[in-house]
Amino acid sequence: MALIVQKFGGTSVATTQRIKNVALRVAKWKAEGHQLVVVLSAMSGETNRLIGLAREIQADPDPRELDVMVSTGEQVTIGLLAMALRELGLKARSYTGAQVRILTDSAYTKARILSIDDQAMRADLDNDTIVIVAGFQGVDAGGNITTLGRGGSDTTGVALAAALKADECQIYTDVDGVYTTDPRIVPEARRLDTVTFEEMLEMASLGSKVLQIRSVEFAGKYKVKLRVLSSLEELGQEGPGTLITFEDDKNMEQPIISGIAFNRDEAKLTVLGVPDRPGIAYQILGAIADANIDVDMIIQNVGHDGTTDFSFTVNRSEYSKALAILEQVKAHIGARSITGDNKICKVSAVGVGMRSHPGIASRMFRALAEEGINIQMISTSEIKISVVVDEKYLELAVRTLHQAFELDQTPA
Ligand code: ADP
Ligand code: ASP
Ligand code: MG
Repeated sequence: MALIVQKFGGTSVATTQRIKNVALRVAKWKAEGHQLVVVLSAMSGETNRLIGLAREIQADPDPRELDVMVSTGEQVTIGLLAMALRELGLKARSYTGAQVRILTDSAYTKARILSIDDQAMRADLDNDTIVIVAGFQGVDAGGNITTLGRGGSDTTGVALAAALKADECQIYTDVDGVYTTDPRIVPEARRLDTVTFEEMLEMASLGSKVLQIRSVEFAGKYKVKLRVLSSLEELGQEGPGTLITFEDDKNMEQPIISGIAFNRDEAKLTVLGVPDRPGIAYQILGAIADANIDVDMIIQNVGHDGTTDFSFTVNRSEYSKALAILEQVKAHIGARSITGDNKICKVSAVGVGMRSHPGIASRMFRALAEEGINIQMISTSEIKISVVVDEKYLELAVRTLHQAFELDQTPA
């Protein structure tokens, strides 16, 4: 008997029929003698719909109230799944985040989990009951409902697996594992049997939405055995999915590049003609940080005539806010002007094999050059190379790099 946490995403619970299918899948694992905790997302499209309603009332919705209403999507699916399991003659109980007591900080819309009370869930499991928990939500110390950021149900799943010391956390979604890149963009993309935790972390942080980055962080910190699987395959026909491994990389034969990630949610801002003197980066980025805006890539040009240009990227949703802040900072620091571009994207090649193979960057730049794709910004780490390019080249760039690194071919 194992204790397994299963998380089902929005597409997997998109209709009552799909919820009945989830119930059958859960029932199958139960019949094999396992203890089960099931985490659900809202029906696909529902969270977007709820955010849309909020925006019809307030252009910039109050974060506390937004969390109150946007968290309701998950409350619907957990109740429905509990009913579907009861229809199958099984014992099941649903819990909201607050009912479990998934305690978070008070950062509405992007709260972090602080602790999880496992008492009620343990009592249910000991009593042969399937526990169903609403993903994406928690409660702060003051009793306010919080949400964990888009895609946050993955994090609920992994955090519950960590708190319960589950044997495995299974993330069921609409693809049958982690691929070399998003199979929606590159049909030749290949499912990976395993991916190292480090690579998964990079891929998630660089935009591969198959797992929310915080869920991968949790898995790493608490050594949760994490697997990505499809909920749409027929019962009994399931493939092995993708296992996130913690093995020492050196013991494994690694491809140089494991995957291509991309992120459309990017925007670039440039401060032109900044006096080239100490403290300028701090004055610009300090003001951005004070507004709680995360900065990603940063580039400062070589100065000439005593001035320099300073560029950085932010999440596209924070573009106008960042632009407004820079307009204020401009006069203070004596910059000439501010420009911005919110039609850019970031494309990255990820692979732990890069450490031992020089020349990956030039291969990447050559492939993009051959397609006439202009690179606007570059950033590298030990296991990734990212470039910022015009959004219109996103699909071409991803396909080109997937091919350049022969990711469609099974490594020998
Ligand atoms: P869920 O609603 O189940 O959480 P998501 O839409 O959040 O599902 O994540 C699954 C989607 O992630 C897939 O449909 C796929 O388009 C996308 N995706 C992006 N990158 C990858 C990748 N490298 N491997 C697999 N899927 C990916
Ligand atoms: N329903 C939430 C979202 O759409 C959380 C999730 O699906 O993981 O972001
Ligand atoms: Mg998701």
